[in-house]
Amino acid sequence: MRIDILTGLPDLVRGPLEQSILRRAARNELVDIRVHDLRTYAEGKHRQIDDYPYGGGAGMVLKPEPIFRCLDALQDEPPAIDEMIYLSPDGEQFDQSMANALSLKQRLVLLAGHYKGVDQRVRDERVTREVSIGDYVLSGGELPALVVVDAVVRLIPGVLGDATSALSDAFQDGLLDAPHYTRPATYRGLTVPDVLRSGDHGRIAAWREARRLEKTRQRRPDLLHPEPVRHDMQAGSPDD
Ligand code: SAM
Repeated sequence: MRIDILTGLPDLVRGPLEQSILRRAARNELVDIRVHDLRTYAEGKHRQIDDYPYGGGAGMVLKPEPIFRCLDALQDEPPAIDEMIYLSPDGEQFDQSMANALSLKQRLVLLAGHYKGVDQRVRDERVTREVSIGDYVLSGGELPALVVVDAVVRLIPGVLGDATSALSDAFQDGLLDAPHYTRPATYRGLTVPDVLRSGDHGRIAAWREARRLEKTRQRRPDLLHPEPVRHDMQAGSPDD
């Protein structure tokens, strides 16, 4: 998979890509992540990438030209772009099922906004998907882009070893994760549940499944019982 990240703050993005699982994935050539500095595609002595908003008001807007130019250059490089994603608080809510779907793609382009966001013409003409990481507003799209990259890359086959398999993680199969313990077996009088030290794989699997169900019921009952369709709300119902 190839991922291109467009940003006015490339250093903010590069650091996390150089750590842990993302770095290993890149070194093992399971993913090719390229960070593009929008200033490289800007013109003038100051290589300005933002400007005042038409109509007035507070905040700057990312100019269209550097983004269009950068995307033009990227489009000429293989493989074909599957999704051109703009990170935005008013986008589709990012979740595990979107991460799963994106992990099957060959090429993603992520655009990080800043200030008030990007010129609307970029969104209208080039963006294929707008993604939010939650109902709160961050200063820029760099951290949201990294959230998406991390969640997606760890799902690419071969990126995680068995020891950190994504399959038993929360949300992957609609349940939250079970509790985890490591050595020592007793610490400050706190003990690890006996079943986990029994060596009985059947009992361990059953215990974990039960804990997962219990935690999901307590914390996220909505995952177990998705909102039913309210037939009584449908237009034309005899009860209207
Ligand atoms: N004026 C925008 C609005 O109200 O929707 C907010 C702009 S925000 C200050 C600057 C940039 O941060 C956005 O262009 C976007 O790229 C990014 N951003 C902020 N919060 C985000 C979120 N929850 N999800 C995804 N991107 C976000």
